[in-house]
Amino acid sequence: MTNPPRRALGREPAADRALAAGPAAGRHDPIPSGVRVIAGTLRRAGHEAHLVGGSVRDLLRGVEPADWDLATDALPERLLELFPDALYENRFGTVAVKVEGETYEVTTYRHDGPYTDHRRPDAVVFGARLDDDLARRDFTVNAMALAIGEDADEEADPSAIRDPFGGQVDLAAGILRAVGDPAARFREDSLRMLRAVRFAATLGFAVEPRTLAAIEADAPLASSVSGERVLVELLLLLAAPVPSMGLRLAQETGLLAAIAPELARQRGVPQDKVPGEDLWDHTCRTVDAAPRPLPGEPPLLRLAALLHDIGKPATFADGHFVGHEAVGASLTEAWLTELHAPRVLTADTVNLVRHHMFVYAAGWTDAAVRRFIRRCGASAIDDLLDLRTADNVGSGLAPDVDGLESLRARCREQLEARVALDLAGLAINGDDLMKALDIPAGPTLGRLLDRLLEMVLVDPMLNDRSRLLTVARELVAADSAESGTGDAAGPSAGTQPT
Ligand code: ATP
Ligand code: MG
Repeated sequence: MTNPPRRALGREPAADRALAAGPAAGRHDPIPSGVRVIAGTLRRAGHEAHLVGGSVRDLLRGVEPADWDLATDALPERLLELFPDALYENRFGTVAVKVEGETYEVTTYRHDGPYTDHRRPDAVVFGARLDDDLARRDFTVNAMALAIGEDADEEADPSAIRDPFGGQVDLAAGILRAVGDPAARFREDSLRMLRAVRFAATLGFAVEPRTLAAIEADAPLASSVSGERVLVELLLLLAAPVPSMGLRLAQETGLLAAIAPELARQRGVPQDKVPGEDLWDHTCRTVDAAPRPLPGEPPLLRLAALLHDIGKPATFADGHFVGHEAVGASLTEAWLTELHAPRVLTADTVNLVRHHMFVYAAGWTDAAVRRFIRRCGASAIDDLLDLRTADNVGSGLAPDVDGLESLRARCREQLEARVALDLAGLAINGDDLMKALDIPAGPTLGRLLDRLLEMVLVDPMLNDRSRLLTVARELVAADSAESGTGDAAGPSAGTQPT
């Protein structure tokens, strides 16, 4: 399955199209009224107002921009005079202006000073012209500006688009090309190389050969990009229609080895799945097969798909990967922690990687299904089954081999039956047991609760406060009699039959 590059708007002059949508043409204005209010204020005060970067690119593609970036010749202090509630955000000349409940970033045209850390300019210089500002941008399709005013009329004029680097031609051809000398631009800021593979995937564009060669030459510099920035690009890439377009580029250029060496090691590891394909091919197929996230949601399933077999290179022996899911879970945790991923995203991804190797059989009892839910976590079940479905597709198999859909239906049945599936669902809690049986908090109490839950998973009818208390008393008594020490709920906890 390949994703045809999204071509920009054919051969039409881009401005016709961008602006055909304005109110002057009697149609919906794609530019939010808050952005127009800001532009109007700037223009009336004698300044320039341009949309720049991704917003122009996306307007020309007929796609709603993720954010609206405005650029102007007005200096930050002037912006603060014109918009008294605005906040001067950073030393890069970005001012956040709130209009109609939305915050928009307005940036003063700037030159970048020299870069010594391969990431950020040492200083920025204001007072630049629009073309200087466009020249510091990363790719030609991101280096266009659109002059805007309070209403859409003037944008119908093709000269409203400023495009000094041929961004419209590249957009129409589906090409991602660095502005200026690619090697110099990537050495200035190595994040741009990660942005290149991200845009290749999100736009479905091909990377222009010189730009590609420069990434191959300098890929190791990407290891100095901060974890947070790597994560931002990775999550955007994973939300693309076909993430493997970017992942494969990252592997082939050496970027993957710079940011995720353990994943890069998957190349060349044999897999007995799709003939002629290796473990890395399997990972790419699995990621593509995992569902895209909803807008605004993190791409949890795609991330889990990317990492589900990360433990395989380290465990490979005699054609097997014994215990790869446990090793994979720790590698996943280590890497996502290094990237400063949000805790919940890390925990959910680790959980999916750890449990993705379950083996279901039609002979499972309902108790076994409940135990499976308890082990993986009720809220993770749908994701886990979706991950395995993608894993099947990535292995060249039918999506629901191994009875996945039947397991899903059986899990659903248990979840809807509102039986206890975890400690929170138990009709008794630790406090109850401490009071009733006079035992202290601690591991013994934890083991007792676990045993009660195991019994309830086998027989949901047992989940009644007084019955559980009776059982708990018997367990404690039996344990003290057995050990003679009073150590209740000992090592037998958690060993119920299937
Ligand atoms: P998205 O659709 O993901 O928002 P975008 O192109 O708008 O993509 P942003 O990160 O929002 O990307 O940045 C806005 C613009 O700023 C870019 O289009 C580009 O012109 C410029 N830009 C951002 N990061 C860099 C960078 N590291 N180097 C050079 N220019 C950059
Ligand atoms: Mg943007």
